[in-house]
Amino acid sequence: MIVVMRPTATDAQVDKVRQVVEEHDLEAFVSVGQERTVIGVVGTDLDRVAHIGLLPGVESVIRVTQPYKLASIEHHPTRTHVRVGEVDIGLGAGLVIMAGPCSVESRDQLMQTARVVKREGARVLRGGAFKPRTSPYSFQGLGKDALDILAEARTATGLPVVSEVTDPGQVPLFDDYVDLLQVGSRNMHNFVLLRAVGQTQKPVLLKRGFGATIEEWLLAAEYILSSGNSNVILCERGIRTFEPSTRNTLDLSAIPVLRERTHLPIVVDPSHGTGQRSLVTPMALAAAAVGADGLLVEVHPDPPNALSDGDQSLGFDDFGSLMDELRRMHFLPDTAPPPRAGAPEPGLTIGALRERIDALDGSLADLLQERTRLAIAVQRLRDPDASGHDLRREEDLLSRAGASDGPMTRAELVNIFGSILRASRSAQRRTIRHETPG
Ligand code: PEP
Ligand code: MN
Repeated sequence: MIVVMRPTATDAQVDKVRQVVEEHDLEAFVSVGQERTVIGVVGTDLDRVAHIGLLPGVESVIRVTQPYKLASIEHHPTRTHVRVGEVDIGLGAGLVIMAGPCSVESRDQLMQTARVVKREGARVLRGGAFKPRTSPYSFQGLGKDALDILAEARTATGLPVVSEVTDPGQVPLFDDYVDLLQVGSRNMHNFVLLRAVGQTQKPVLLKRGFGATIEEWLLAAEYILSSGNSNVILCERGIRTFEPSTRNTLDLSAIPVLRERTHLPIVVDPSHGTGQRSLVTPMALAAAAVGADGLLVEVHPDPPNALSDGDQSLGFDDFGSLMDELRRMHFLPDTAPPPRAGAPEPGLTIGALRERIDALDGSLADLLQERTRLAIAVQRLRDPDASGHDLRREEDLLSRAGASDGPMTRAELVNIFGSILRASRSAQRRTIRHETPG
């Protein structure tokens, strides 16, 4: 800490500052400059002299070290791993996906979701049992029954379980039932709860308070760490800002900021961070790109009928697509599923089917090139100074798409033809640009 004295400060005022510092078992280093005197204060727990700025002659007080110690990167220069069940989270462990419903609503809903998220590659199952709802009239969670269901899903899938603890009195119960204790955004400042989870050795997922600065969040982590539990994972879940388009503003810059300040692993929750299903996948990819150690994603079998947070929950298909995207971008390892056990029919091995698919893909690429050559030939016969094209044929094609029988839905086919038509139009435009003089 540096105490900057006013240019008019007297020697007696400088002495008084030194005396107060020394009375608190801290050291004072006085440095007299041409215009003013500054005093360096060194020692642990500088908060004891937090009032020093009020002494006569003092202009300002500047903190140079962080108020949190155990959470800081200076304390622990290598990044921490936290083990949740058998799953490592933190440096070198790769991206860990935690997924499941906002709330456990029934045995069926959770078991179904657990199986799907596991198959898609999630490593931790989430599910709220005690819900901290903004309104007392909203669904409050199934409580202990939900913990029983979560325990059953853990046994069935082998996935460790994360659930939110809302009261210090629940900690012993959670200790028996869950692998990762979630402290929610609304409870980040509940210091009694922080101390209570700090007295266990269970890993804690500490969500950022929606009105908390990064420093306040790290100080909340410090409560847990200083109570004796070193297994803390931070979770960015969006903060409240003036922007009403999203439920919260997902502060992704917090991840690189935290990397400079703390060794603790960092998870991002793009579900609460955005509040809208369509925004979850883009922000999840962005979170992975900015170096998150994990993602916490809400998934529900029937989002429109969910009892909580349906608007931001992904259905099974959307969750599968998110996982595909994460693999395509190499944020997750590419794991081709192994073949089923048992002898396959001849000609029906995965290898034989793939060969046929690869040959078809080759023919499709050739056909698309041929189609584009024809489209370019059409373009050459058109007036190069006029723009537009024959929209009617395009609309006909899109309305016929899906007419033939097959496993693809009309929407999927329309989507593919939409891309073909767009690519074909840009090849035509390129032709005009290259071939028209001037
Ligand atoms: C939750 O994860 O369901 C939840 C309530 O999150 P938050 O505390 O971030 O609002
Ligand atoms: Mn939720």
